[in-house]
Amino acid sequence: MDFALPAPILERKLTARRFVDETCIPLERELEPDWIELPPELHRQLEAQIRALGLWAVGVPRELGGEGMGALGYTAIREEQCRTVIGTSHYTPFGGELPAPLYFASEEQKARYVLPILRGEKKVAFAQTEPGAGSDAAAIETRAVRDGDGWRLSGVKRFATLADRADVLLVVAVTDPEKRARGGITMFLVDRDTPGLRVHRILKVLRPQHSTEIVLDNVFVPQSNVLGEVGQGFAMAQKFLVRGRMSIAARCLGVARRALEMSLAYARERHTFGQPLAERQAVQWMLADSYMEWHAARLLTYETAWKEDQGHDPRVEASEVKCFATEMAFRVLDRAIQVHGGIGLTKDLPLERWFREIRVLRIGEGPNEIHRWVVARSLLRGQLVPGQPW
Ligand SMILES: Cc1cc2nc3c(=O)[nH]c(=O)nc-3n(C[C@H](O)[C@H](O)[C@H](O)COP(=O)(O)OP(=O)(O)OC[C@H]3O[C@@H](n4cnc5c(N)ncnc54)[C@H](O)[C@@H]3O)c2cc1C
Repeated sequence: MDFALPAPILERKLTARRFVDETCIPLERELEPDWIELPPELHRQLEAQIRALGLWAVGVPRELGGEGMGALGYTAIREEQCRTVIGTSHYTPFGGELPAPLYFASEEQKARYVLPILRGEKKVAFAQTEPGAGSDAAAIETRAVRDGDGWRLSGVKRFATLADRADVLLVVAVTDPEKRARGGITMFLVDRDTPGLRVHRILKVLRPQHSTEIVLDNVFVPQSNVLGEVGQGFAMAQKFLVRGRMSIAARCLGVARRALEMSLAYARERHTFGQPLAERQAVQWMLADSYMEWHAARLLTYETAWKEDQGHDPRVEASEVKCFATEMAFRVLDRAIQVHGGIGLTKDLPLERWFREIRVLRIGEGPNEIHRWVVARSLLRGQLVPGQPW
């Protein structure tokens, strides 16, 4: 059994680590707390450096301008990227986390939307959740009805992240109420300035990146803006579930590792009652617990990524990983704040920001209860068998 990363991945991972340590982390203190977008000039500079190092959009296929790395390479590098808030932010200069459904874009849609989104010239928001349907996405009410060479969309979307800043929205709507998840749900690319579409309200949430409520009132969308095939919206989303969950898990690994690294440094340097914190057993136990949980999450995440690269369909494992990694990172951040005392709660350090952001991830991309349900159902059906060899 070989746990070593393949040399080309390891090399790129170490490059990412150096860049984050030497360039990104020193910049963090100079940025506004709770920033959403970097100053444009700084974003451009960082992105140019990241591209030159071969670290930009590592998981995006080469034909779309990314580095085309597989799941393991993507995971290993994203872990490094996410040791800095510059890498975990929604509009990161590390680039192109393409919303998965966009992989179904036609050639014309790629030119008009996907490439400009990847280059950062256009911003995209995802609008699936509604006031009456979140985890149970098949229960959405937004309707799309045929109208000549296009569709008329009506409904209310809730939580679409940063849709007020987006140029285009990926809207999920019901095209056949009888079929719903089984061929009756479709995805549409809707330009934000389309008549009838409005951002009704901003929803301030725990993390800096706000959400929005969107009203679609008889919005006309041409047939050319249907993403993939009519009725295949749900099937398309299923195909890329693993990618979204693995991206979250890798982010949790990076954030938790930095929190642990910061805790170790602080425990060595901070003295109370004449001794470094590192000498106190109460602090040592927090460090040990954080390391053990992080280590377990990392093995689970890398193993799942490896399985995907081997051609398996690790959908259930990805649920396991999403659930485990988000809860691990939350506990590790909580302990890191405790080790840092009062300064850990201030915006001088990235810990409190990440604490809020990671809390959101236990609900976003499906609440963890749904992921536990996926794992339990798979166990009970005998599809996931404890002790099964790889
Ligand atoms: C900050 C933030 C950003 C978001 N960004 C987007 C976005 O960009 N686009 C978008 O479309 N959506 C977005 N969402 C929505 C997100 O995906 C939903 O909030 C999530 O899927 C949960 O749906 P819900 O909030 O309706 O909760 P519900 O589905 O109502 O569930 C509420 C709670 O009930 C429990 N629960 C639900 N079902 C079960 C079950 N079967 N078994 C056991 N327990 C269960 C869970 O604990 C869950 O947390 C965002 C949400 C947040 C908070």
